Amino acid sequence: MGRVIIVGGGAAGVWLAALLADRGISEIDIIEPSMLLGRGAAYATNNPDHLLNVTPDKLDPHPVNGYETFSSWLARHRPELVSGYCPRGVFGAYMDDVVRELRSRAAIRHHCSTATEISAQPSGLAVILEDGTSLVADHVVLAIGNLPPRRIAPQLKHRRVIEDPWRLDAETIKGAHKVVIAGSGLTAADVAISVNEAAPDAEIVLSANRPFMPPADATVVNWTGAGDIPAARPSRVWQYVVREIRSGDATDHWISVIEATKSHAPRLWEAWIPRDRATFARHGLRHWLHHRHRMPAPSFALMQKLIATGRLSIARGRVGDVEIAGDEVHLTIGGRPVTADVLINATGPSVDIIDEPLLKAAADRGLISPDAYGLGLAASQSGQALGPDGRRTRGLWILGAWTRGTHFEVVAVPLLRKHAGLIVDAITADLN
Ligand SMILES: Cc1cc2nc3c(=O)[nH]c(=O)nc-3n(C[C@H](O)[C@H](O)[C@H](O)COP(=O)(O)OP(=O)(O)OC[C@H]3O[C@@H](n4cnc5c(N)ncnc54)[C@H](O)[C@@H]3O)c2cc1C
Repeated sequence: MGRVIIVGGGAAGVWLAALLADRGISEIDIIEPSMLLGRGAAYATNNPDHLLNVTPDKLDPHPVNGYETFSSWLARHRPELVSGYCPRGVFGAYMDDVVRELRSRAAIRHHCSTATEISAQPSGLAVILEDGTSLVADHVVLAIGNLPPRRIAPQLKHRRVIEDPWRLDAETIKGAHKVVIAGSGLTAADVAISVNEAAPDAEIVLSANRPFMPPADATVVNWTGAGDIPAARPSRVWQYVVREIRSGDATDHWISVIEATKSHAPRLWEAWIPRDRATFARHGLRHWLHHRHRMPAPSFALMQKLIATGRLSIARGRVGDVEIAGDEVHLTIGGRPVTADVLINATGPSVDIIDEPLLKAAADRGLISPDAYGLGLAASQSGQALGPDGRRTRGLWILGAWTRGTHFEVVAVPLLRKHAGLIVDAITADLN
């Protein structure tokens, strides 16, 4: 029943394959440079302090036929973790079992490589791998996850300036007295945890334009009024939500408002006309992202402890002017000079197509185009790639982080399965 190529074998690629196999499509090629399918950047970590940012039950919605949910798997394998914040590596172990199940149901060919090019051919879409191998299929799904951040020191290549926060080398950090981490979000917190372990005496400085760390995740009763948020212009929606936030004092109150609003965000995004979406992306998105993220409660407690003991601080301003002098990194934060032993970039993923060769090749051939809001790639509601003229590209689909401009909320595991389901519906309709 046709062949499907999935580029990227993180959680999104694996769940997509599981859904395809469930619909009888069993010829599936997954291109993924890592030996381990299903883990990607988030679940490859073995650090027991790198935690899931939600409790296990929140990862279960939109299950796939025949696959155990995470909560049920956890109850059998690690019952002591059922009600807390699991190490992400434990979710990775669960994904290993999902992959085993998948392999028992479908002929998965894992090409341990990187896709570098894609082009439309008379016989379908051709994907070229790093070693020159060419694969052709009727349908190709790009499930490549997030890119590393945009470089903060583009001209510099030095082991003490770490541009990809997911490739931390503990040896570089060991013995450091001062480490600057650009960013103050969840990734920066993860990095701070790793730095704290590798260099327990180091001073850690986070830097951000708005020096604010995500609050601790909490089990709250969601605000029931979110269903009544009007699908009005972004400024009115914002006022409506802020008014509700101000109506209560407790931290739980604003978290419950944001949590409830989060589940309605895709509805509001879909209702907005492109101009409103663009306005929100320009002016409101940064505020929204500040408030919608939650830190696993134990990680939050550790951050607070590091702050209270003077080990960690947050400096206001962007990192710039990075230079190496001997064994030191000289930089500025908000224009003020700072000297550190190591600088780590945790400023959030790049969404610039030119930073990823495959995307650049696809864009050069008119197969994909950036969305109108600077959030990722243009895609239809079902995830089909749109070219620069707005037309659907036959056989090419996008899943995950790059579809933020279409679905708005995109990276949580349940949403990956939901959006993968939309793609699978469309692919099976085409192949039948
Ligand atoms: C640190 C971290 C913590 C998170 N915690 C949670 C959480 O607690 N709960 C939650 O729901 N979500 C969490 N997320 C969100 C997370 O993004 C998703 O849950 C999920 O891991 C995304 O999977 P993905 O497959 O889309 O992307 P990724 O996991 O990034 O996988 C994409 C894969 O594509 C491969 N790839 C990229 N380019 C190419 C190419 N050109 N050719 C071939 N392969 C390529 C990469 O090697 C990678 O393995 C977290 C994310 C991060 C980064």
